[in-house]
Amino acid sequence: MAESQRDFYEVLGVERDADAKTIKRAFLKKARVLHPDVSDDPDAEAKFKELNEAYSVLSDETKRANYDRYGTADGPAGFGGMDDFFGGGFDMSDLFSQFFGGGAAGAGRVRTRGRDMSVTLTITLQEAATGLDRTITYDRLAPCEDCGGTGSADGSAPVTCPECGGTGVVTSWQHTILGRMQTQSTCPECHGTGQVIEHPCETCDGQGRTPSHEKVTVHIPAGVASGMQLSIEGAGEAGVRGDRAGDLIVRIEVAQQPDLVRQGDDLICAVDIDCFEAMLGATFTMEGIMPHEQVEVNIPAGTQPGDHIRVPGYGMPNLYNPSQRGSLVCIVNLTVPKDLTPAQTQQLEAVALERGSRLSTADTAQSLLDETFAQDQQAAGASTASASEKPQPSARQILSPRRSLAMRNRVRSLGEMAPLAARSRAPSPLASVRRSARDGGAAQRGQAAQGGP
Ligand SMILES: [Zn+2]
Ligand SMILES: [Zn+2]
Repeated sequence: MAESQRDFYEVLGVERDADAKTIKRAFLKKARVLHPDVSDDPDAEAKFKELNEAYSVLSDETKRANYDRYGTADGPAGFGGMDDFFGGGFDMSDLFSQFFGGGAAGAGRVRTRGRDMSVTLTITLQEAATGLDRTITYDRLAPCEDCGGTGSADGSAPVTCPECGGTGVVTSWQHTILGRMQTQSTCPECHGTGQVIEHPCETCDGQGRTPSHEKVTVHIPAGVASGMQLSIEGAGEAGVRGDRAGDLIVRIEVAQQPDLVRQGDDLICAVDIDCFEAMLGATFTMEGIMPHEQVEVNIPAGTQPGDHIRVPGYGMPNLYNPSQRGSLVCIVNLTVPKDLTPAQTQQLEAVALERGSRLSTADTAQSLLDETFAQDQQAAGASTASASEKPQPSARQILSPRRSLAMRNRVRSLGEMAPLAARSRAPSPLASVRRSARDGGAAQRGQAAQGGP
């Protein structure tokens, strides 16, 4: 952008302290001469582009301030909170072809009412939840300030077109093979408006409207969804010589968020819980969609992967009744800790063996049990006693009687040990979700984990 550019003030031929009106006038004056449709200059297009760029910067307060200070319209770090809209097929060249009547209107009727314009406004899901006021800037044909939109230089009212008598249409008769036919066409004198200006305003060339860089603040209500439209009456294109202006249609686009999916008024997210939390139940808090909102999520004991935990009242506000909110739906994802300490592994193996789990670490478990068994035998002095005389295992157990006994002793001793305290926690996949374990839940889990033989 900043490659060997001419000074914008120089391009427009104005002083550095020129006010907005002077800049606009200078621009329109030059634009009329330089417009590629009018000018014979082979460089007209490039010059017109340069003029356009200079005007688009100097006519915008923020951009002009940035240009004065930093030599570029973008300033040091762009504009916070302001969105520029040149999109929607509505650019400066369109604006100019309309303004200068590019090629007139052919046989069609000239429209004097302003057209509706549209811009797309992209907001975040959080902004959609809270609602907000957003200032947008765009270019439009606005009522000419110099003539108050009348198009008349001396304030005289437009007069009825003498050519068409105010109808805007001229009628002619043609002879065809089908007979005499009446054809109607747009009045060439008034371009179909039915009125003519005797002394047209110099700024707007009698149109009553001029290209303008506009700012408008839109209120976006809470609960708004993608595809919804807001209409700002009269903020679209100005009508010719004071005729009704069009509306500005603001299309809302709510940016998608990878970790939070909206479904109507519900918000769906994934939560990672570890297998202990799933088995024993857990309570944690996570950030809600509203600013500083904390949501308490209760995971009941025995929760399965993929279960939906619904927290009512923490979804999106309803557009028509913002005090009413949908639910936050947490889809449970199970994580398995990989960093168990040897002590924790032992405890878990004991529980698992007790439950008849088919452990692949049976060797470790076996050696552990053998050790215990040997100690038991020594203590009892039963060097020759058969293991089969020991108490019978329950039907549920698949262990040998010898191992079963050892197991029981082992489990009994575990009962006196500390509860499963240290728990690993994988970071949640939801960037905005922070959780904190609660002490009450941990104590309950400890008790449950100790359920003896
Ligand atoms: Zn006419
Ligand atoms: Zn004017």
